[in-house]
Amino acid sequence: MTFDYDLFVIGGGSGGVRAARIASGEWGAKVGLAEESRMGGTCVIRGCVPKKLMVYASGFPGVLEEARAYGWQVKAGHFDWPMFRAKLEAELDRLEGAYRNTLKNAGVTVHDARATLVDAHRVRLASGEEFSAKHILIATGGRPFVPEFPGSELAVTSNEMFHLDALPKRALVVGGGYIASEFSCILNGLGVKVSQFYRGAQILRGFDDEARGHVSNAMRAGGIDIHCGTDVMRLERVAGGIKAVATDGSEREFDLVMYATGRHPNTEGLGLEALGVTLGRQGQIVVDRFSQTAVPSIFAVGDVTGRINLTPVAIREGHAFADTVFGGRPTAFDHQLVASAVFTQPEMGSVGLSEEAAREIEPILVYSTAFRPMRSAFAGTQDRVLMKLIVSQATRKVLGCHIVAPDAGEMIQLAAIAIGMGATKEDFDRTCAVHPTMAEELVTMRKPVRTA
Ligand code: NDP
Repeated sequence: MTFDYDLFVIGGGSGGVRAARIASGEWGAKVGLAEESRMGGTCVIRGCVPKKLMVYASGFPGVLEEARAYGWQVKAGHFDWPMFRAKLEAELDRLEGAYRNTLKNAGVTVHDARATLVDAHRVRLASGEEFSAKHILIATGGRPFVPEFPGSELAVTSNEMFHLDALPKRALVVGGGYIASEFSCILNGLGVKVSQFYRGAQILRGFDDEARGHVSNAMRAGGIDIHCGTDVMRLERVAGGIKAVATDGSEREFDLVMYATGRHPNTEGLGLEALGVTLGRQGQIVVDRFSQTAVPSIFAVGDVTGRINLTPVAIREGHAFADTVFGGRPTAFDHQLVASAVFTQPEMGSVGLSEEAAREIEPILVYSTAFRPMRSAFAGTQDRVLMKLIVSQATRKVLGCHIVAPDAGEMIQLAAIAIGMGATKEDFDRTCAVHPTMAEELVTMRKPVRTA
């Protein structure tokens, strides 16, 4: 049987683009890709990239303050949001263009349309055009989820945050995960008065307790009004803005309410269930370790599979899929030991097990130090950093590393190499310090602070 394409990819985000590029450019497959929105997906268009640029923008008031403490005569002006937003939009246009070029150069045919499945080997575009393909890859990502409650339509999500006409004076951020905590810090840094409501006892659930405590204390010290154990009951439009009536009985007014209460996979309306593709409780596509669904010709990678919702993971899953199916090299991406960073202020980088998770598995030693780094001590600020290692008592292997510090994301990337190689505490200790740095503490912690 002949097909129009060897591979048809639905979704032009991180996972889909990588899979299409490798299948076509490296392995010579005939590849078509459909994207209904902008090329680049969540990460490039409405996620990691614009978010990180906003993180940078929001860090300057702190830097200027520090500069004064170091003897610079500087005065902060006001933040020109429309100017920043225009530059941001131009940068995203440039990146989208780069993604399109990459696909073009790899020989992939791009269809700017929504695609749905007709059967196990056929897709239909919104235009009505149909194509057959030997393999179909679903890489449609996810979207923000806002729970239903009275007034929920007044809330915005991270999608809208990059397009605001003006910055609010007072904002409420709801949620305690990556997105909520990052946007609380961004808005706070940009001069917005921020409150954050989280239904649980401590933000950033799932990360090491000591590290998340350190981040939330620093966020509070930086001026963010964090309310744990608090949720919104209803939102009402009032003359001065939006009134939030909360479970703690409080009623507060804000100019903007942003919900970051998780993301759901984009599987609705694709025609997956009718074909026999298994979906999980949240609607995510269930796949095996080679990203194959219950229908042998249909594969799925990235956030739509709800494994680990991170761009580099989607990229690796997409690459592994292309190598497996078109390169004759069965490759399964290993989801263990994926490092990540939360771009709060201060930043948090983590790899491996938290203290709480590790001690459930085996006896551990905890090495941890919190201190004022040279840069803040000189400036007279109270900013502290945290360096923490979780070590197996039996094997001496470092099971987890948690860093809360400026540029923790950069540091954890390197720690992840060592930990991925199975480094022991002795390997860390043998490594000569780089002085004077914050990260040198990772190789100079001699005594455990506790066993567990
Ligand atoms: P998360 O799943 O990280 O957090 C969702 C938050 O919303 C949790 O605090 C959760 O509470 C809360 N929540 C969920 N449902 C409700 C509800 N009905 N009412 C009130 N609160 C609720 O999702 P995010 O949206 O923050 O991020 C999505 C994913 O995107 C992350 O999992 C991450 O993988 C990825 N991401 C990664 C980034 C990075 O690498 N820096 C940055 C941004 C996103 P509870 O804890 O009680 O469940």
